[in-house]
Amino acid sequence: MPNAPTDKPSPWTTLDLVKWTAGYFKDHQVESARSEAEILLAHTLKTRRIDLYLNHDQPLCEDELKRFKALIKRRVDGEPVAYITGIREFWSMALAVNPSVLIPRPETECLVEAVLPFLDGDAGSAKRVLEMGVGSGAIIIALAHEHPEHRYVAMDRSAAALQTARQNARTHKVDHRIDWFCGDWNAALVPERETFDVIVCNPPYIRSHDIHGLQPEIRNHEPRMALDGDGDGLRCIRHIIESTHRYLIVGGLLALEMGCDQAADIARIAGAVDHYGPPRTIKDYSGLDRVAVMVKKGLRPHANFVI
Ligand code: GLN
Repeated sequence: MPNAPTDKPSPWTTLDLVKWTAGYFKDHQVESARSEAEILLAHTLKTRRIDLYLNHDQPLCEDELKRFKALIKRRVDGEPVAYITGIREFWSMALAVNPSVLIPRPETECLVEAVLPFLDGDAGSAKRVLEMGVGSGAIIIALAHEHPEHRYVAMDRSAAALQTARQNARTHKVDHRIDWFCGDWNAALVPERETFDVIVCNPPYIRSHDIHGLQPEIRNHEPRMALDGDGDGLRCIRHIIESTHRYLIVGGLLALEMGCDQAADIARIAGAVDHYGPPRTIKDYSGLDRVAVMVKKGLRPHANFVI
């Protein structure tokens, strides 16, 4: 590391370090170089990002510099910043993350937004919401935070992921609203006996063949189990659409995150299953198709007939 922070004769201040590290990250093709430099320095100093600027001329002691340098090296070696700090913000909540869970993406907030209108309703009537493959718990914790009056069931086949999600639920004080199951998709549920008003899932949907083309941060560090949707990317999505109608009430909602080129496939799969109305596609903040929602068809038990 030529001209690295320790080579400078006078003490390095926080502002010097942010600038130097942003440049160094840029030279090493780290995206969002400046903000990642700030995140790592704030993490080293156990402070907020804004404090780096409020105390811009604060010098770092040798130990702080040493620890910061170690983080710079891990980032340049390809580790995602969220795994280095152990934290990622989602739905304005700080969530613990580690390599056993996918790092929550901003576009997944669209999935939360798509579900929220279905959770409004008469006060006093608690709905049942299932999330399959919770990972860090980002989605279900956001929903339970917005609608604490409902009951939630969280499933993941990774015990380590479930532990992380529970820890996050405790931090955000919704743990008591959620039942936790370690299991493979809906294997632990009894059809027709366990019915939900809403089932939500961000399944693995990347084609196996495309995994090697992802950024090394994703490819080499994030759990493949949470990304790889098999040859056509649709294996889990197909399984979910074909099986989950048995766990939904009539009029219940299935909401899925998907790849930006999968809307037509999802419409075709749902059409063939014939238990859902036509899926509606919702775009993310970049204008890409990102979420599919579909409603289970059938006669409501107490439907009013208009003659
Ligand atoms: N959106 C994630 C990505 O781009 C993929 C998430 C998933 O497969 N569920 O890497």
